Amino acid sequence: MRAWRIDWQSIAEKNRAFAPELLEQNIRRLRLAAPWIPPLNLMHIWLFWQRQPESANEALWRQGILAAHTGMLVFFGTLALFAWYLVPRPELIRLRQISVSVAVLGTLGFAALISAIDQLVTSNITPLLVGCTLAALAFLHRPLSALWLFSLTLGLFLFGIQQTQSSPAQLLSNQVNGLSSCTIGLLLAWLQWRNFVQINTQKQRMQAQAQLLEEQNHKLSYLAEHDPLSGLLNRRAFNGIVEHELLRFQRTQQPLCLLLLDLDHFKTVNDRFGHPLGDVVIKRVATLLSSQVRSLDSLARLGGEEFMLLLVDCDREHGLQIAEHLRQLVETHLKVVDGNAVALTVSIGMSYLEAGQSGTYDSLYVASDRALYSAKQDGRNRVKVATPI
Ligand code: GH3
Ligand code: MG
Ligand code: MG
Repeated sequence: MRAWRIDWQSIAEKNRAFAPELLEQNIRRLRLAAPWIPPLNLMHIWLFWQRQPESANEALWRQGILAAHTGMLVFFGTLALFAWYLVPRPELIRLRQISVSVAVLGTLGFAALISAIDQLVTSNITPLLVGCTLAALAFLHRPLSALWLFSLTLGLFLFGIQQTQSSPAQLLSNQVNGLSSCTIGLLLAWLQWRNFVQINTQKQRMQAQAQLLEEQNHKLSYLAEHDPLSGLLNRRAFNGIVEHELLRFQRTQQPLCLLLLDLDHFKTVNDRFGHPLGDVVIKRVATLLSSQVRSLDSLARLGGEEFMLLLVDCDREHGLQIAEHLRQLVETHLKVVDGNAVALTVSIGMSYLEAGQSGTYDSLYVASDRALYSAKQDGRNRVKVATPI
């Protein structure tokens, strides 16, 4: 048979994890509940003020009730103002904790006090039952603190009625009823706590799932837009950017250049050094190129050993300078890769659009391709330029 064991540590951890949410809810509940009490106190004060006592005992009772309700009026009036101030200030944790604790202790304390005062003339302990129910339902309590609270209330109540109830039979009856009232309070508090934990556990689970989903969406959209080998933009994402920039060109007439880069004799690199090294070379080229382009520009790997670069706000002259700079970089930085003399070079075909010209993505692409073909034809490792038709 499995041993029945309570994991106190995990319960305590769970309780601690919910502490901020518990405080948040309690301070909001206090703001909602506290303003209801002072009008009730005023009503009691008015009714008891009217009543002329018929005996010394009754006079004492009347005085006690008037004093208790005046105290409650000030107490809950102040708390209502405090709660109103504290709800929009989550950073005042200590003050919030104190306010909630004072409110709960006050609710139970006044309930026990008024019940004890009532014993001067009556045997009923309704205020205690109302106080216990209110404290249990209006606020959220951790089970252990609820146990402390209702035990303390019971102790206070038992001590109070001992002073004010003169009939031993009624005293015994109320001692038992007081115990029942506090137990009901404890039970209600525990049920509320259970509900609160279940709802919040569910909420946390849903938040974790939503976060996971968001991360996966992020990953998916990254994968949809990037080339897995080089980490550069893929053709699809690049096409979208070019279309967008062409629309901008139509509005602003700021020049742009489209570069098509193709590694020279790359098949030979693969044939001589193997495909894995070929992959490394592609990655090195990608890193080298992306270290040179501005954040405004867009660099993509079209597939294979071909790259495309869009230079925005860049005219023909400047575009040619950049293309030549990139060509030289590849030539100087990729002579040797991981100890292998690959002696890599690149051919670049460029097309451009300047103010007053018109062109589409297709016409730019065709022109860059034409220029690239010409660069290859002329012996590779060079930059050629063509105008879109
Ligand atoms: P050219 O100077 O005319 O451009 O010659 P080339 O050999 O570079 O051109 P070609 O298009 O004939 O060959 C491209 C080669 O690129 C063929 C293929 O083996 C290689 N390649 C394409 N994609 C990859 C890749 O992802 N990894 C590796 N290692 N090689 C690739
Ligand atoms: Mg090629
Ligand atoms: Mg090639």
